Amino acid sequence: MEEAISLIGGAWTRPHNDEFFDVIDPASGDVVTRVAQASSADVDKAVSAARTALATSDWAYDGALRAQVLLEWADKLSQNIESLARQLTRENGKIFGEARFEISSQVGVIRYNAGLARTISGRSHSLGREIFSVVAREPMGVVAVISPWNWPVTLMVRDMVPALAAGNAVIVKPASQTSGACLGVLRLLAECANLPPGILNVVVGRGSSVGQAIVEHPGIDMIAFTGEAETGRNLMRAAAQTLKKVSLELGGKSPMVVCADANLDKAVPELVSAVFTTTTGQICTAPSRLVVESSIHDEVVERLRALVGTLQVGNGFEAGVRMGPLTTRSQLEKVLSYIELGRRDATLVAGGRALNEGSLKNGNFVEATIFDDVPLDSPLAREEIFGPVLVVQTFTGDAEAIQLANATPYGLSSAVWTDNLQRAWRLSRAIQAGTVWVNTYNRFYPEMEVGGYKESGVGRMAGIDGLLEFTQTKNINFDNRDASAGIGRISDKR
Ligand code: NAP
Repeated sequence: MEEAISLIGGAWTRPHNDEFFDVIDPASGDVVTRVAQASSADVDKAVSAARTALATSDWAYDGALRAQVLLEWADKLSQNIESLARQLTRENGKIFGEARFEISSQVGVIRYNAGLARTISGRSHSLGREIFSVVAREPMGVVAVISPWNWPVTLMVRDMVPALAAGNAVIVKPASQTSGACLGVLRLLAECANLPPGILNVVVGRGSSVGQAIVEHPGIDMIAFTGEAETGRNLMRAAAQTLKKVSLELGGKSPMVVCADANLDKAVPELVSAVFTTTTGQICTAPSRLVVESSIHDEVVERLRALVGTLQVGNGFEAGVRMGPLTTRSQLEKVLSYIELGRRDATLVAGGRALNEGSLKNGNFVEATIFDDVPLDSPLAREEIFGPVLVVQTFTGDAEAIQLANATPYGLSSAVWTDNLQRAWRLSRAIQAGTVWVNTYNRFYPEMEVGGYKESGVGRMAGIDGLLEFTQTKNINFDNRDASAGIGRISDKR
């Protein structure tokens, strides 16, 4: 069994009082990992290790050093994909192929940011014959990364790698449920020869205690958080006490708008993959609302029902299985409570049952579920369920499509399916979301920034903007003029 313990100042650190808790395999009910419960004293130690590392090493100043370390880490990761993916499926329940993809795709993300580490630059201005001014880009300092369990490695790497590439020291708090897989990935970085001790720190344990200690700590300059909107809201409130910078990547209730001329042979399988089989619907970008043009409604619903009926549900390691369990028992209970609500408020088209017989008896399994005729004000249509539940909404004309697409507090991602270029452009511009995919879904690239509109977040991840989130600018002003020329005035008239 895996044991997940903290890494502080370059040393693996067992918890005070030897306090651990268990992570349960969501497919079998077996204990798969023991996670140490770090304390607020561990957070203190991690902060001072990080500060010491920044003060005594070249990390913040030397982009080539950072690139070298990150590239070495990417190489190590590329050699350990299978074993890390196995741990990820055991903890999260996701299909093994998805776990393998999740680990292997980080190699490119790390290499991309390693390249950026050598390109960070500021600006200079000539402000007069004797006056020269520089806007330098500097790291934030100590950045804490708090990440969720659904794409735990991707989302941890998405924040911590640009933070490191920009010259910060990091304190990572992975989600409890997937601490083992995350630590496996971080251990490879810790083993890189030229990483100064204290630049990478990991504190494991419950978010409600160790996460909260991070949020309240005055020695942390920035928090990059990915998780639920409610946790993010509380975090922002608590971080205000010490005026930390926060970036928040939160939930979604994303619409997939399917117009009458869409290629349904592509759109329907893509929808099934994105809302059901990818992480059993536990993905922030899941297109959990199908917004379909009325003239093709019946055909699309029929195709969906037929395809969903073929999905094999089971243990993510088994060949042929397309949909694994929900990751935690509480997530299963939450999803079932929304399904109950749907049975009252809407028309059940497919699924609707927990699966707990035979080999599924100890796991958190549920059928892929579709509801039609969902009232706009129903929680089913507005709230993030985070499970394999699709809501169908019908439109006539673009104005109604836009109104439905924007009818939730969230604005993370969306899609438009049409072969009409003007229509694709018009709808894409009108949808309030950080990402609009046209005739595709869930395509992510290290180069492309992502983030939330409305209550889906604050700040941008990935790409160049994502890296610059982890920097701050400093204006350094050189003034060579003689004092008698009037230096000392607060600003020169220009
Ligand atoms: P969560 O409950 O908000 O937890 C996220 C992280 O915050 C975990 O590491 C958790 O620790 C920690 N945490 C919990 N309470 C805390 C507190 N008081 N102070 C500091 N940290 C605390 O979210 P989740 O259930 O893991 O993840 C699912 C959510 O993430 C969904 O809403 C999903 O949409 C969102 N998400 C968003 C994106 C995006 O890019 N926008 C991507 C993926 C997921 P523990 O694990 O110990 O509780």
